[in-house]
Amino acid sequence: MRCEVVAVGTELLLGQITDTNSSWIGEQLALAGIDSFFQTKVGDNLDRIVAAIELALSRSDAVICCGGLGPTQDDLTRQALATVMGVDLVPDEAMEEHIIGLFSGRGRRMPANNLRQAERPEGAEFIEQMPGTAPGLICPIRRTGGSGEDRDLVVYAVPGVPWEMREMVTGTVLPDLQRRAGITAAIRSRTLRTWGESESGLAELLADRIRELDELGNPTLAFLASGIEGLKVRITAKAPTGDEADRLLADEEARVRALLGSLVFGVDDDTMESVTLGLLRDRGLTLATAESLTGGMVGSRLCDVPGASGVFRGGVVSYSSEVKHQVLGVPEGPVVSVEAAVSMARGVRRVLGADVGIAVTGVAGPDEQEGRPVGTVCMAVVVGAPGSGGRLGSAPADRTEDPEPVVGHLEVRLPGGRRQIREFSVITLLGLLRRHLAGGE
Ligand code: ATP
Repeated sequence: MRCEVVAVGTELLLGQITDTNSSWIGEQLALAGIDSFFQTKVGDNLDRIVAAIELALSRSDAVICCGGLGPTQDDLTRQALATVMGVDLVPDEAMEEHIIGLFSGRGRRMPANNLRQAERPEGAEFIEQMPGTAPGLICPIRRTGGSGEDRDLVVYAVPGVPWEMREMVTGTVLPDLQRRAGITAAIRSRTLRTWGESESGLAELLADRIRELDELGNPTLAFLASGIEGLKVRITAKAPTGDEADRLLADEEARVRALLGSLVFGVDDDTMESVTLGLLRDRGLTLATAESLTGGMVGSRLCDVPGASGVFRGGVVSYSSEVKHQVLGVPEGPVVSVEAAVSMARGVRRVLGADVGIAVTGVAGPDEQEGRPVGTVCMAVVVGAPGSGGRLGSAPADRTEDPEPVVGHLEVRLPGGRRQIREFSVITLLGLLRRHLAGGE
């Protein structure tokens, strides 16, 4: 079974959006054990979409088209599929009612154009999942092969919006492809997120296990780089049933975690900030940030996580030395030092009434500062007991000051330009806090 992807959209050709859908589908096909040798991008032009699908069908058994299923005139995938199938587009009454219901349920007026989405090529079926307003399609196609034999082919159409596309591909397209290919094995994968070690460092730690797995052939381990966000270790397991594959995955995850220890900070969609906030929440701790060279980027990443407000009290962007001294109580003297970072963390914890304070100060460049070279970054975490932060606005004397908060600090020399130094500082600080909370340091 060969399946290829045709991504539809002029904006993909112009570089206005990156075709992440094809990459994601490619990865899923590989995991599902389906060969995929080509990916095509084509603009919003009927003849060229038809040509791209025809070419794909000439060399593969299945095609996944993504994008161009919207309600407007330039959404041409439905029409292209009807042309490829040699049939008309027909309105589907049940789908019309469903789409009308979606709009009225949300109290919104439905533009008449949206009913175009209820049309399907005659003989095509809608995909069961429909997370948005664009239905996906399964289009069976029969062609005659070179030696006169019948070839049963299929084209799936899924929307371009990534989360809608994923739900349909996972829920319908992949199981349907596997059924057609006669693949009965269940394939499951889990990704461990690591931070703080290079790819070669990880490979060294896992070398013996990788050698054993090479001989066994199942499960498998793969490294995936994700820039400053660290490295991912993906475990993939294959078994006759889903439960068995899950068991293999769990066993392998335990082995890999034992070898990598606190380098592993999460799994799958976890991020450094979501994991750190989760650890704080579990321990009943609140957090405040004091940021100099990162100018609020740490706080911003924390606020990306839904529910951050239960933990994150706020931050002080103490960019000027005056703010460090006068608002956070950093003693006069150098401000790019571990001592200054610790004072900032203590200060913000006090000023914002949080149990935990974290701080970062450093030299992002282009010029050196206080005789410290560009890339010098100092950070600190000050972790008190739950409730030790007191209330905002209460006089310091009224607060239950934790007599001995745990202090961790770090001085590093980061490479790269201004942006890279600042971004790297953010994740390094969050990583430092995470390791403290997880007890890894
Ligand atoms: P809908 O009707 O649900 O909007 P559609 O099938 O018409 O879906 P498009 O109009 O092609 O989809 O794309 C909608 C949006 O989905 C785009 O603006 C873009 O943000 C995203 N998108 C489309 N194609 C891709 C792709 N190949 N990779 C990543 N994102 C994509």
